[in-house]
Amino acid sequence: MSAPRLEIDLGKVEHNTRVLVERLAPSGIQVTGVTKAVLGSPAVGAAMLRGGARGLADSRVANLARLAGLGGLKGPTSRTLIRSPMLSQAADVVRTATCSLNTEAVVLRALDRAAGGAGLRHDVVLMVELGDLREGIPVDDVAAAVRLVLAAPSLRLAGLGANLACQNGVVPDARNMAVLSDLADTIETSYDVALTTVSGGNSANLDWATSSANVGRINDLRLGEAILLGVEPLRRTPVDGLHQDAFALFGEVIERVDKPFAPWGDRAQSAFGGVPERVGTGTVRQAIVALGRQDADPDGLVPPDGITILGMSSDHLVLDLGDHPAVVGDEICFGLGYGALVRAATSPFVATVDRAGC
Ligand SMILES: *Cc1c(COP(=O)(O)O)cnc(C)c1O
Repeated sequence: MSAPRLEIDLGKVEHNTRVLVERLAPSGIQVTGVTKAVLGSPAVGAAMLRGGARGLADSRVANLARLAGLGGLKGPTSRTLIRSPMLSQAADVVRTATCSLNTEAVVLRALDRAAGGAGLRHDVVLMVELGDLREGIPVDDVAAAVRLVLAAPSLRLAGLGANLACQNGVVPDARNMAVLSDLADTIETSYDVALTTVSGGNSANLDWATSSANVGRINDLRLGEAILLGVEPLRRTPVDGLHQDAFALFGEVIERVDKPFAPWGDRAQSAFGGVPERVGTGTVRQAIVALGRQDADPDGLVPPDGITILGMSSDHLVLDLGDHPAVVGDEICFGLGYGALVRAATSPFVATVDRAGC
């Protein structure tokens, strides 16, 4: 196998899913597995389903299309589009996604027309703004959106949802989750409907969900990062009992030369702005790995113990090897944070293969 490559341990993805599914089940919360960080990889989606995810979700239609072949024991899997559909994509959305998260009346009308034209029924979750100020309908306007969906012949109101933390780091807590729960109750009573899904949020909801005695009406979380990387994203702390190393990125050493610690010559900006702090003396056991910002985000790249990342440009990753014995042609294996994982999975230069292990 050649480098660079992203190795995935599907067994660890399945394990992480199962642990989270079992941990949330006593509260009545089911897990929807989110595959967007791995471009809707069918292998990863299947591992999430084996681990007990009730369905899959992705932010992009093209990724959901890759998941279309997957089914569970109970029949075809639900595929939820978790970014509000582009108006221009309504026809693709109803054909590819069984459900979508929505905030815009004009989009809902387009989905209804498209679903009607295709002879389909499309499930809709209305997203509610709870303070993080990314997607969401203001609480006071949710009733109007509900009426629109109920009047749309080819849409089905599956429920309500919310998303916190991603834009402004707003923490899911008893207060904002209660707003969503109360709204679900109010809508059901006012319109005599049953909401099957109340989706409280993403991996950032885990602390709240596992520490609350009462999660109210919330019965679904859309989990990506926690399943894939085993961390909760608010403080990026490892989640008990989960693997943090289901993914590993391998790069190949292309230069291995001892170099002076300090650069010489007049200095201005480096390739991506800013000048690395390099004060000191002596020699560095330096290596260049054939990985760049097109393949990974240096902030989320975790080198093996004893190796330090000195810098990364488009195509060169410069390392201080410390005592590591690597020579040209050797591979070095890196752990990944969320940003680095997304970048690696998206890079056309990085092959994705099963079976991780640094
Ligand atoms: C990305 C995303 C998720 C999953 O987030 P994680 O932090 O990876 O669990 C859930 N819901 C929405 C709307 C998203 O955009």
